[in-house]
Amino acid sequence: MQRRSWAEPFKIKVVEHLRMTTRAERERAIVEAGYNTFLLRSDDVYIDLLTDSGTSAMSDRQWAGMMLGDEAYAGSANFYHLESAVREFYGYKHVIPTHQGRGAEHILSRSCIKPGDFVPGNMYFTTTRVHQELAGGQFVDVIIDQAHDPGSEFAFKGNVDLDKLARLIERVGARRIPYLALHATVNMAGGQPISMANAREVSALCRRHGIKVFLDATRAVENCYFIKTREPEYADRSLAEILRELCSYTDGCTMSGKKDCLVNIGGFLAVNDDDLADAARNMVVIYEGLHTYGGLAGRDMEAMAIGIHESVQYDHMHARIGQVQYLGEIIEREGVPIVRPIGGHGIFLNALEFLPNMPREQFPAQALAAALYVDSGVRAMERGAVSAGRDPETGKNSFPQLELVRLTIPRRVYTQAHMDVTAESVVALYQQRARIVGLRFTYEPKHLRFFQARFGPVEGDRVLRDQDPP
Ligand SMILES: *Cc1c(COP(=O)(O)O)cnc(C)c1O
Repeated sequence: MQRRSWAEPFKIKVVEHLRMTTRAERERAIVEAGYNTFLLRSDDVYIDLLTDSGTSAMSDRQWAGMMLGDEAYAGSANFYHLESAVREFYGYKHVIPTHQGRGAEHILSRSCIKPGDFVPGNMYFTTTRVHQELAGGQFVDVIIDQAHDPGSEFAFKGNVDLDKLARLIERVGARRIPYLALHATVNMAGGQPISMANAREVSALCRRHGIKVFLDATRAVENCYFIKTREPEYADRSLAEILRELCSYTDGCTMSGKKDCLVNIGGFLAVNDDDLADAARNMVVIYEGLHTYGGLAGRDMEAMAIGIHESVQYDHMHARIGQVQYLGEIIEREGVPIVRPIGGHGIFLNALEFLPNMPREQFPAQALAAALYVDSGVRAMERGAVSAGRDPETGKNSFPQLELVRLTIPRRVYTQAHMDVTAESVVALYQQRARIVGLRFTYEPKHLRFFQARFGPVEGDRVLRDQDPP
């Protein structure tokens, strides 16, 4: 069949210069950063695939919206624009802005979770789980088993396992479960979507037991693209219609606007329940700001409102996911092990297969991310044992089944040529994988350790040797 390419539904008006570095400069930079890509200076990075969070390019319309910022302390016009965009596209009644997603997670967790409660979710997310634990809750993973298998081709690997959920309800009782956290798409599983059918069934089961469902809507529109392309009955529905239906199965959402909503900062909590909204508004003034700005400038809320409108356009999402798939297909063609099927926001290298001889205690994904930076200046992120942290009860490292390096694609920022350069570096490293050296901690923070941890090579003083070992 003749190939019909996707292409961006925009052209470039402003360019941002990048600094090109030499390998010697990158060797120095990664040592200074303690082999942690989070601690690199962005000036030393060529193609930054650390995260798709807050790294999107805003449109000319969003920048124009910034000039319409109403910086009144109370009742900013931009708040009402944001509120009506969330009501129109997500369908929730009450909208409470927060500085970013974790601000909404903090308020939701503190408002709903009592010490000793259990909070099921389709896989953990780092900040989400910490807020649940700080509120006294215990996260319980109820994602389907296929999600933990990087080779499974199942189309909706983000789905909730209804049997696991039912067993949890039976074991601890519905009264100890304030809500289920439903992630769409599932970041830690490789950007894997949930199906509409699953959301509908989860919602029905939870409602029967009086358990609320809160959506992590951070990448829900990306999830809707997968529903449209993989769940036949939705093929002819618009992304906006699919999003409204998905949200209708839930009682509210936490949102990091830094992803789907195409802004550099911002988030919100949205809920239908009047009492919960009151409680959340009481708490937002303490931790974020007045309930009509929640830690954001008026202009930030305006940009987010416009970004919500842009995010549900099919051509935008087709190009967004198309670019991710383009990168994944080149890497995969060369035999590099990645998580299948290719997900929504990035390519996830399977570090356990990439470096099969490296012990898990030497953090293969962390080492691979550091080596990739040294090779080409591409910055990726570890999503494996370092991110998973220690078991809160035993204090031991938890080694999740997935040990991944995430190449996350910012929205509307990089070109196809950048994707080619990235793929070529990954493939070159795969061919030279025997040169990659494992890492050990030299500094380990207590919470969310992946952000600030420092490492050193387990032998020698480099993470990427010049030659294969003898
Ligand atoms: C980024 C993210 C969050 C947290 O949002 P922040 O804006 O970074 O605080 C929560 N859930 C998921 C799935 C995310 O990707």
